[in-house]
Amino acid sequence: MNTQETQRLINKAEKLCEQRGARLTPARREVFEILAGQEGAIGAYDLLDKLKAAVPNAKPPTIYRALDFLQEQGFVHKITSSNSYVLCSHFDHQHPVQMLICEQCGAVQEIQSDGVYEALRKQAEDQGFVVVSQTIEAHGLCRDCVS
Ligand SMILES: [Zn+2]
Ligand SMILES: [Zn+2]
Repeated sequence: MNTQETQRLINKAEKLCEQRGARLTPARREVFEILAGQEGAIGAYDLLDKLKAAVPNAKPPTIYRALDFLQEQGFVHKITSSNSYVLCSHFDHQHPVQMLICEQCGAVQEIQSDGVYEALRKQAEDQGFVVVSQTIEAHGLCRDCVS
């Protein structure tokens, strides 16, 4: 993501926080910015290392609190299978999450397929199960790594 795009996302996040009465503190903002400049997903400790450049006294709780906040706001998705985090590219609305994760280079691509969402919701419904949120993580090789 280039700096212009990063700035656009930060402005959007700031506006949303304002509307929701949530506070995008400097540390939270910094973590958001680091994630925006990241190609793939990143683990909490790598994030902490990068955060220390801007906030030298940052500690693990700093990063976890910031990540919790960013997830609550829907700005960041957690990739459970690799225990890492990735910025959401369209965080202005709640949505089912489908992620394509490259096992080789770590690139993460978020896709949105209403078909997948509906199929899963329907099958769950047949089981009497009410789906509140959906996260699908698909592992494999990205276009660059396949060739
Ligand atoms: Zn998303
Ligand atoms: Zn790859």
